[in-house]
Amino acid sequence: MAIDYKASTINDLTQLYRSGEATPSQVLEAYIKRIERDEARVGAFITTTFDEAREIAHRLDKRLADAPETIDWDKETLFGVPVALKDNMCTQGVKTTCASKILGDFRPPYDGTAPGRLRAHGAVFVGKTNLDEFAMGSSCENSAFMRTTNPHNADYVPGGSSGGSAASVAADFAVAALGSDTGGSIRQPASFCGVVGMKPTYGLVSRYGLVAFASSLDQIGPFTRTAYDAALVLAAMCGQKDPRDSTSLEDPFGKTFNKRGFAALDQGFVKAMQAKTGQEIYKGARVGVFKELMGQGNDPQVDKAVSASIERMRELGATITEVSLPNAKYALAVYYILATAEASANLARFDGVRYGLRDPKAKDLLNMYLETRHEGFGPEVKRRIMLGTYALSSGYYDAYYKKAQQVRRLIASDFERVFAECDFLVSPTSPIPPFKFDEKTGDPLTMYLADVATIPANLAGIPGISLPCGTTDNDLPIGLQMLGPQLSDAHLLQYAHGLQQSAD
Ligand code: GLN
Repeated sequence: MAIDYKASTINDLTQLYRSGEATPSQVLEAYIKRIERDEARVGAFITTTFDEAREIAHRLDKRLADAPETIDWDKETLFGVPVALKDNMCTQGVKTTCASKILGDFRPPYDGTAPGRLRAHGAVFVGKTNLDEFAMGSSCENSAFMRTTNPHNADYVPGGSSGGSAASVAADFAVAALGSDTGGSIRQPASFCGVVGMKPTYGLVSRYGLVAFASSLDQIGPFTRTAYDAALVLAAMCGQKDPRDSTSLEDPFGKTFNKRGFAALDQGFVKAMQAKTGQEIYKGARVGVFKELMGQGNDPQVDKAVSASIERMRELGATITEVSLPNAKYALAVYYILATAEASANLARFDGVRYGLRDPKAKDLLNMYLETRHEGFGPEVKRRIMLGTYALSSGYYDAYYKKAQQVRRLIASDFERVFAECDFLVSPTSPIPPFKFDEKTGDPLTMYLADVATIPANLAGIPGISLPCGTTDNDLPIGLQMLGPQLSDAHLLQYAHGLQQSAD
């Protein structure tokens, strides 16, 4: 029987390579075989890149066989690890569609910084994953091309917008995947698919080569099976200022930004974390329960699973207090003004001239713009562009956009205040477990409500993780969200690791 490396972690693979028990090509072939077997059911990928992956794996095989001394395992932390990328991240010569007809044939001439850094650490890219068009949505149902199903039950959505990336890890099509999170698009699908998903501190990972949705909120982050693997992937991407993204942080863990003594998320920290027990990590930890996100309208099964995790933290030595963030209730409204306003500006570039689709029949320039955008964008993207244009238009700017910016500041202050008293906050990632296809498509507002727990972190720029914490009666995953102060990414991952370590 062929070994299929199911549910492998990055660590497992590294051990296999170092001990000579497997080669990157053997592992890759096992993953490709599984993708070929199950992809018709799951539908994670818009594009697979098996040829390129085979070439790269072959090169790694050769190094492993002929020149193992050239491999620095402390630096090439993703050596031979199959990775999937959300299809809104530019990859040189490989289609990058954003699940939109307007970019249906777009092949970027360059790699984005984050994919490039993973490549430099030895990752092997197996494909580009499905998403809601331009990352706008919570179920992957807004993709112009295909449906992704939840690997746990194909009647249910995988969440969104990074549903394909979450599903690719849950279905064992990849050991890790990258997604982007503007209002929850990593954490919510991670929760729905039963994997770990993290949105780092804003600015920690370069956005260069990520097709912009809302630039002040967008952040790239990992999907993995374990918090430890998430730390490995994030450590490979973060930490250096990228001159191509002016919002990427200069010396993020150095003196300028880090006044609160957070450790750098580097390989040293990640390695040390592996040896720690749950008790060691949680001893003296101050955990805040995000009051506004518990109870009140949540599915009771979600609250029950989250409460059990909180209990576990207490057993491990944490002190638990309930904390209130009174302005959080405005987060959803603020987000749907700011995100749409930024999207309306960002998406102006898709005009039929510079990228992708163009309507060749239009009789003049204006009509070419109009027809191209009419043809190329789906209904949700059009809705967002209209909402955003309205919020920015003269006469409404002060009432909507400016007001929303002010409330955003208040939400960030709420977090600053509670983080003076606790190390991190917990809540459900999503108030509801995975839902069925077409259950919410008729009413955009109920779809938007699915993001109520994840959006505050984007508005405040703080890191957030979703961790599997149980299942519903019908075996669908439930996610626990952990939120930490800005630049506490390493510590937050360590708390997540401690909990995972000590779980059954
Ligand atoms: N679901 C949210 C939205 O539709 C968040 C999307 C995201 O984070 N990209 O905007």
